[in-house]
Amino acid sequence: MQALILEQSEGKTLANVRQIQADALPQGEVTIDIAWSGLNYKDALAITGKGKIIRQFPMVPGIDFAGTVHHSEDPRFHAGQSVLLTGWGVGENHWGGLAEQARVKGDWLVPMPQGLDARKAMIIGTAGLTAMLCVMALEEGGITPESGEVLVTGASGGVGSTAVSLLNALGYKVAAVSGRESTHDYLRALGASEILPRSAFSADARPLEKQRWAGAIDTVGDKVLASVLAQMNYGGVVAACGLAGGVNLPTSVMPFILRNVRLQGVDSVNTPVERRIIAWERLTRTLPESFYQQATREISLTEAAENAAKLLNNAITGRTLVKIG
Ligand code: NDP
Repeated sequence: MQALILEQSEGKTLANVRQIQADALPQGEVTIDIAWSGLNYKDALAITGKGKIIRQFPMVPGIDFAGTVHHSEDPRFHAGQSVLLTGWGVGENHWGGLAEQARVKGDWLVPMPQGLDARKAMIIGTAGLTAMLCVMALEEGGITPESGEVLVTGASGGVGSTAVSLLNALGYKVAAVSGRESTHDYLRALGASEILPRSAFSADARPLEKQRWAGAIDTVGDKVLASVLAQMNYGGVVAACGLAGGVNLPTSVMPFILRNVRLQGVDSVNTPVERRIIAWERLTRTLPESFYQQATREISLTEAAENAAKLLNNAITGRTLVKIG
């Protein structure tokens, strides 16, 4: 089987597509023939070595994949069954999806929801699952389309673009924050009714600013998240899932203690399987058919490394799919 193998040499990460024996795959109950994988921000950090994602080499990256079961020792799965996987540290500390096969725990797999196929599942991918979990976090905080406008930051990225599309389909008025002029038409087509430049959120935030947003999904962190918090309506909810702009959060307690703002963290990696199944079913039901046609690029396994660098340079819009099978 072919796999993208990451190795370390003199402190640098090397990424090469190699032919390996299938029996080199790690332990697990289910072996999957991978049809599609995706290129995520975390994969890009791992492949380029720009982030300390991988601690054990050699490693096959790829934090999400979809395909069919080749062989299963777990009675919940059978050969030929269509499945998908995101998270659980796969592609980080267990060989991942940028290969023709993977072997994983049955507990990590989600049966393909009815109405979805492997390619569509990877258009959604980890990014889309995270966007749905963020929407669920806003709903659980009591936010409805009647509450007011919802802001999405890093809007033209994988998480942001799916969040814009989901919120629009659910009847929310969506404002998008993007650092790129070139993505405005794309964001409007996804359902953003207003697009704000990233520069408007990049200055040091005052503790409180004019109230503008009922809800927000933040994929950026740092000063952008601090500005968003300062602009939330009384009782507003922010779902924070990302750090594309940095890991810091230079804010104060003011939005929390004077405006009753709730900041809800969102993690998709260790989300319990029951919540994943709900999220995947909702994604399948909610995303319009047009979502799957918009800004999806297809690359081969051998093109993954160069595209990882482009992704980190913010030169890619939407999802990058890796065609394997
Ligand atoms: P992408 O690279 O596809 O998108 C990130 C977007 O953020 C970019 O498209 C860009 O949008 C914006 N951005 C990039 N650099 C900066 C910067 N320096 N300052 C401000 N904005 C910036 O990544 P994903 O959508 O896949 O992931 C987004 C974030 O969410 C990442 O940090 C990722 O690690 C995290 N994540 C977290 C998960 C979890 O479980 N918590 C799961 C998946 C992702 P624009 O050009 O429109 O401004």
